[in-house]
Amino acid sequence: MKNYLAERTTLIDASGIRKVFALGATLKDPVNLSIGQPEFDVPEAVKEAAIGAIRDGQNRYSQTAGENTVLEMLCPRVKADTGWDAPQVMLTNGVSGGLLLAFMALINPGDEVIVPDPYFVMYKHLVRMLGGKCVFVDCYPDFTLPVEKIADAVTDRTKLIILNSPSNPTGQVYSEQEIKAVVKIARERDILLLSDEIYEMFSYEHPHLCIGRYYDKTLLLKGFGKSYGMTGWRMGYAACSEALKPLMESMLMIQQYTFVCAPTPFQLALPTAMDYDMSSYVQAYRTKRDMLYDGLKETFNVHKPGGAFYMFAEKPERYATATDFVKDAIAHNVLVIPGNVFSEHDSHFRMCYTTTEDKIRQGIDILCRLAKG
Ligand code: PMP
Repeated sequence: MKNYLAERTTLIDASGIRKVFALGATLKDPVNLSIGQPEFDVPEAVKEAAIGAIRDGQNRYSQTAGENTVLEMLCPRVKADTGWDAPQVMLTNGVSGGLLLAFMALINPGDEVIVPDPYFVMYKHLVRMLGGKCVFVDCYPDFTLPVEKIADAVTDRTKLIILNSPSNPTGQVYSEQEIKAVVKIARERDILLLSDEIYEMFSYEHPHLCIGRYYDKTLLLKGFGKSYGMTGWRMGYAACSEALKPLMESMLMIQQYTFVCAPTPFQLALPTAMDYDMSSYVQAYRTKRDMLYDGLKETFNVHKPGGAFYMFAEKPERYATATDFVKDAIAHNVLVIPGNVFSEHDSHFRMCYTTTEDKIRQGIDILCRLAKG
C-alpha cells in the first residue's frame, strides 16, 4: 500500500507510559504507580463553576488568549511570581498546548534545545517533529542541574534551554544557586529559557521558585491539571515579560490556526480554582512521598525528591536494565515506568505516589522483595 504518512511520523513512537497503561488494564487490582496525575477529583466548588458556565451559555469561543476576566486574575499572579511589570499571558490547552505553540514559534530545522536528562517525554518528541535537535545533558546520579555541562553544550545553534522544576520524572527541585548559574549562561549567550512549572504547587521543602524572577527572557508554562485534579480539562497558561512580546504574539497567531482557544467554560472555572485552598492536598502528597521514600531507601538507590509526585529510583543490581525490572514488577502486579521513557539511560524507574497509602505500602513490599530476589 502507498505510504500516506508524513516522514515526521517516523521520528516519534508511542509513549512508553501508554504501553504500561495498556498492560495495567489487563491486571486485576494492580498497585498502580504509573499514572502521572492526581487521584483526587476537582473540588466541588470548581466543578460547580464550570457547570454554571455551561448552563449560563458560556459555550462559545473565547478570545484567542482567553477570557478577559481570567487573564485579569492571572496577570497580577504572574507579576507577583516574577516581578515583571507588564506580563504577557495567554491560556493554553494544558501545558502541552503551550509547549507545542512555543516550539512551533521558536524552532527552525537544525536548532538545538538543551534538555536536562531525565526529561518530560513530550519535549524530545515535539522538538524532533519540528526538525530541531535535543541536546541532552546528563543529570545522573543526583539529578541536580549540571551547570558546567550545560555551558559546554551551548553552540551557535542553541535556541533554548528547558528547565522543569519540580521535575517529572525525578521530583527534583532546583536550588536558587543552580537557577542563577544557568541564568548566567543563558544571559551571556542570549539564549531563551523555557520553564515548565506545571508542578509548582507541589514543592515540599520551601516555596516554589519561579524562574521568571531571575531572567526576563524566560517563557513560563504553568498548568492547572495537576494542581486541581483537572488533567482532562486541558487548562494551562503561558507567560512572558515584555522582552519576549513578539514570541507571545507568534504563539497567539499559531493558536488561532490550531487550538483556537482553551475550552471556554473550563476557563471560567479557573478563578474559583485559584481561590481554592489546596494545601491539605499538597500536605497529603508530602506524607506519601515520605512514606514511599522511607520504605525504599534501605533497599534502593533513591534520592528524596523535593517536589512533584514522582520518585526515580535505580534498578536493583540483579537486573540488567530498568526495563527488565519493570517487566518483573508488572508481572508481580506493580505498575512503574522504565526510566528510558524519560531518558537516554535505562537504569532507573519512575514511581508516582498519587494513590492510597495502602497501595503505596503494598508497592514498597513487592518492589523490595523483587530487589532482594
Ligand atoms: N509538563 C510536564 C513536566 C508534565 O509532567 C506534563 C504532564 N504529565 C505536562 C507538561 C503536560 O501537562 P498538561 O496535561 O497540562 O498538558
